[in-house]
Amino acid sequence: MLTKSEQIIEKTEHFGAHNYHPLPVVIAKAEKSKVWDPEGKEYFDFLSAYSAVNQGHRHPKIIAALKEQADKCTLTSRAFHNDILGDFLEKLCAFTGYEMALPMNTGAEAVETAIKLARRWGVEKKGIENGKQELIFAENNFHGRTVGVISASTEEESRVNYGPYLTGIKVIPYDNPEALEAAITENTCAFIFEPIQGEAGVYVPSEGYLKKVREICTKHNIMMIADEVQTGFCRTGRKFACDHEDAKPDAMALGKALGGGVFPVSAVVADHKFMEVFTPGTHGSTFGGNPLACAVAMAALDVLDEEKLAEKAENLGKIFRDTISKVSCKKMVQVRGKGLLNAVVFEDGFQAWDVCVALKNRGVLAKQTHGNIIRFAPPLVITEDELHQALEIIIEVFESL
Ligand SMILES: *Cc1c(COP(=O)(O)O)cnc(C)c1O
Repeated sequence: MLTKSEQIIEKTEHFGAHNYHPLPVVIAKAEKSKVWDPEGKEYFDFLSAYSAVNQGHRHPKIIAALKEQADKCTLTSRAFHNDILGDFLEKLCAFTGYEMALPMNTGAEAVETAIKLARRWGVEKKGIENGKQELIFAENNFHGRTVGVISASTEEESRVNYGPYLTGIKVIPYDNPEALEAAITENTCAFIFEPIQGEAGVYVPSEGYLKKVREICTKHNIMMIADEVQTGFCRTGRKFACDHEDAKPDAMALGKALGGGVFPVSAVVADHKFMEVFTPGTHGSTFGGNPLACAVAMAALDVLDEEKLAEKAENLGKIFRDTISKVSCKKMVQVRGKGLLNAVVFEDGFQAWDVCVALKNRGVLAKQTHGNIIRFAPPLVITEDELHQALEIIIEVFESL
């Protein structure tokens, strides 16, 4: 007899395209920093849906906003105004410190929007001939899965057999200001990058890198565009990862936790002098800025502020890294990260998958990136006590390796 979980996994694998390889665990119920499988086993969630659940699972304030809005109006399209979009955009601008916002749904769409913004700005404001625009990206980036975005990827798995790719893209080493400066030409519109490379294994650039990027972009009149889809919304101990160096990008791509783990909500934020290149008909999305998304996102932003989740992430992150760095485990090479976006790096060739399965069996859900790296990113609402409980399990598993 198969267990309920095994039956569910079998059905999902049978009917679903195999574009993922999940851990063999089924989640049926979730609250705050914990989730439960159909058999009732409890787990700490140390992935937070890739940082989309910063506010914790089913935050009551966000769920209440969802329900209240669901009873009023859910979708209008942008062919008409709806009575909540303005409030949402105002709140998002206040939270991020930009003059304007353009709402979409997924992170990849936000990055696509940023690409279109940069290319159009290049022609209309910088005088580049249309078709000659160039964009610079960093090696080992992750910006999503659309054809446009994977054109900038250096990850063979993400790109293979999807050609032809977008042209006008240069990829340079990350954390290397000289390479950025050298790659800029008169046709460059923007440098699009992650302030911490999440999918690459929580790769934190050298101190001062973000500031240098800011200086170079200003000097050469190119847009500095930060993809804060994963690092944003308090995850790294600041509202945004660029805040660590007070390096304000010209535009940010946002997603994930903007939807509070409840609804897909994404956006690009920028000042008027950039955003004004979009005119009616030049970009859009049927669901972008829908009333349900607006209500959820406003509540999601409130929770970040009201519960001081940036400060919490900063403090708990220190505890996490301090504790893990003292663990005696010969296979462990490094623990790194900022706030509650952390990763443990194991020696080359190490199968981190097996560790994730062992962690799962003991009640902690985490996922490896790149074979030998495990990311640890619990919801920011996790309590210090819960963090210690989870750390105990993690330490036990690491020490048994
Ligand atoms: C997850 C992610 C994306 C893509 O977001 P989706 O909602 O999956 O399209 C883009 N950029 C970064 C940095 C991400 O982590």
